[in-house]
Amino acid sequence: MKLLVTGGAGFIGSNFVLYMLREHPEYQIINVDALTYAGNLENLKSIEGNPNHTFVKADIADTATMDRLVADGVDVIVNFAAESHVDRSILEPEIFVKTNVVGTQVLLDIAKKYNITKFVQVSTDEVYGSLGETGLFTEETPITPNSPYSASKAGGDLLVRAYHETFGLPVNITRCSNNYGPFQFPEKLIPLIISRSLADEALPVYGDGLNIRDWLYVEDHCSAIDLVIHEGKNGEVYNIGGNNERTNIHIVKTILEQLGKPESLIKYVEDRLGHDRRYGIDPTKIMNELGWKPKHNFETGIKETIQWYLDNKDWWTRIASGAYQEYYQKQYGDR
Ligand code: NAD
Repeated sequence: MKLLVTGGAGFIGSNFVLYMLREHPEYQIINVDALTYAGNLENLKSIEGNPNHTFVKADIADTATMDRLVADGVDVIVNFAAESHVDRSILEPEIFVKTNVVGTQVLLDIAKKYNITKFVQVSTDEVYGSLGETGLFTEETPITPNSPYSASKAGGDLLVRAYHETFGLPVNITRCSNNYGPFQFPEKLIPLIISRSLADEALPVYGDGLNIRDWLYVEDHCSAIDLVIHEGKNGEVYNIGGNNERTNIHIVKTILEQLGKPESLIKYVEDRLGHDRRYGIDPTKIMNELGWKPKHNFETGIKETIQWYLDNKDWWTRIASGAYQEYYQKQYGDR
């Protein structure tokens, strides 16, 4: 099987590429990533030289390049590539529409042209908007995104749905809750809190800190997508989550405790505009219909993740210093 994986130098995409080459060593992976600030080839260091992995630096909205790559016998497209940070989408929405909506449409057209056997759109629970104190997002929950990020992801999802309804394209959409684990860019909550705590810097916590996110270990997300590629019923949406709802302040205090740092580092800051109060995923469908089960329990997963950031301090300090850019030039030139 030959897969085109987009965004495979980002957090989840790189974990997915490593996971797939481990679980299916005979598969070929073409990994396309524009290497924005969030893409990092160091995430893929352990598979350098693997003949079944080819990295191509390209924008998913570049029709000619996507055409050339898919024409070369691609069976499956898994679309992770996205602008993914809500705060950035509030400052600069345009790039979110370009990548998350237009980029998805370009990939869909190419998928249709070459009759690929599966298109998996990796999406997010944020397209469902915000929950009150009770209830969970199911696949039937109306799409009511609140941030430019989630609106652009919802736009991409609706195009994927339309290509199935209109052209019969074999698609699935997966909607996952917040991921955590190795290789997450230090702007996101868990790595941000770890890196700032280690430097004894103030820890910004939005509003009252009681916003709730539902956390899933990144490898469990990867195993769910693997299952959807192979068993997903065309046209279906699958929600992915591990029933691990935690308030943001609980996450911050858990990290401080493990690192032996004082809670006095916590600094409540003005709430994010349009901040969704609560996300919670109902993963019953993927569990019952495809037999998916997460392997990682949150309490041990978070400990392992904190340890990974302690063991890989060079990885995140290099990103911050920009030295990673030099690495790319040295390793790959202008390819
Ligand atoms: P990320 O920001 O770490 O990685 C995104 C990757 O996409 C980067 O490597 C970046 O260089 C690449 N990219 C951006 N624009 C591109 C373009 N135009 N062409 C090619 N590549 C481009 O994001 P992530 O957290 O790994 O998220 C991956 C996907 O999973 C996204 O689609 C996101 O919406 C979705 N998702 C993320 C989470 C989460 O908790 N992180 C949860 C649910 C769903």
